[in-house]
Amino acid sequence: MKKKAGIVTAILVAAVVALFILSDALAGKEIQRTFFAMDTLVTAKVTSAEPEETIAQIEAEILALENGVISRHNPDSELAKLNGKGGKVSAELSKMLETLIDVSKKSKGAFDFALGSVSDLWGFGKKAVVPEKEKLADALTHSGFEKITLSGNILTFTDESAVIDLGASGKGAALDAAKEILKNAKAKRAVISVGGSILLYGEGDFTVGIRKPDGNSGEFVATLKTEACCVSTSGNYERYFEENGVRYHHILDPKTGYPVSNGLVSVTIISDNGLLSDALSTACFVLGIEEGIKLAEEYGCEAVFITENKEVYVTANADLMLEINDKSYTRAVQK
Ligand code: ADP
Ligand code: MG
Repeated sequence: MKKKAGIVTAILVAAVVALFILSDALAGKEIQRTFFAMDTLVTAKVTSAEPEETIAQIEAEILALENGVISRHNPDSELAKLNGKGGKVSAELSKMLETLIDVSKKSKGAFDFALGSVSDLWGFGKKAVVPEKEKLADALTHSGFEKITLSGNILTFTDESAVIDLGASGKGAALDAAKEILKNAKAKRAVISVGGSILLYGEGDFTVGIRKPDGNSGEFVATLKTEACCVSTSGNYERYFEENGVRYHHILDPKTGYPVSNGLVSVTIISDNGLLSDALSTACFVLGIEEGIKLAEEYGCEAVFITENKEVYVTANADLMLEINDKSYTRAVQK
């Protein structure tokens, strides 16, 4: 009798242990790793059955997207070969270009995916300099989204000196690529940040901070509580240089070719789509608060604008998601 009870107990204990092991395997492990891609740091935190493998796949995919498709500086990339000439475009790139042409049109050129002739002169990310006035004026005549058209999978340049620049949208595209890998890996939860663009993936709520323009990376003006989505911020404090006491940042007004100066310090966009969140954060920065809110809403996205005067403007739904952490900033209402 005693022996039988012992066996039953042993079986029960084994069953409970097995259950724990199983539930642990189902929940997966959480791993975080940082690597360099797209001229910035990428941080990937993934909970999946094999997170190391999932992150390795994400890294390989982002590097393949950068070097094989969208980098205009790598002569072997698809974009570098197409720039100025046009031709047949892969399904992956044409899907991206369709969205970017749409954002360029709807923002009336405030976002210009064909701004490369101008952004190249500034040399952000390399040796940044204020371009000579004449050179800038000439470069401006070779920019403008209407100089490049996509018909089906055929790209046509009406100006051979026009240059597609995906600097404002590539990091968002990286998030969309990472999302596909997370889906295939059946990952439970993940946070992937590529510079100022973040993918929040999986179940439950996420909290994401909007950086203080003059603070360290861990200091936030406000935090947003969201479900799974993509959040991109364009800030004039992200990339800049100083010359003769003047500060020049990397978000350019396609009308003038110079950095936008409209009282904004950052724009954050929340969208289901990474590419769109990244492109719209730049577009809305250039457009300013009133037009920017309209554009974000046209795409069904939420937006948060932060001004030099420490005011925070938001779209209606973003208002509900937002908490201001730094009390020197105030919530403002668009009149
Ligand atoms: P970050 O690179 O910090 O994420 P953005 O997403 O705002 O910032 O992209 C800025 C980059 O986009 C610039 O370095 C330049 O290559 C390009 N760019 C600048 N102004 C514009 C614009 N008005 N429209 C499209 N691309 C732009
Ligand atoms: Mg952007």
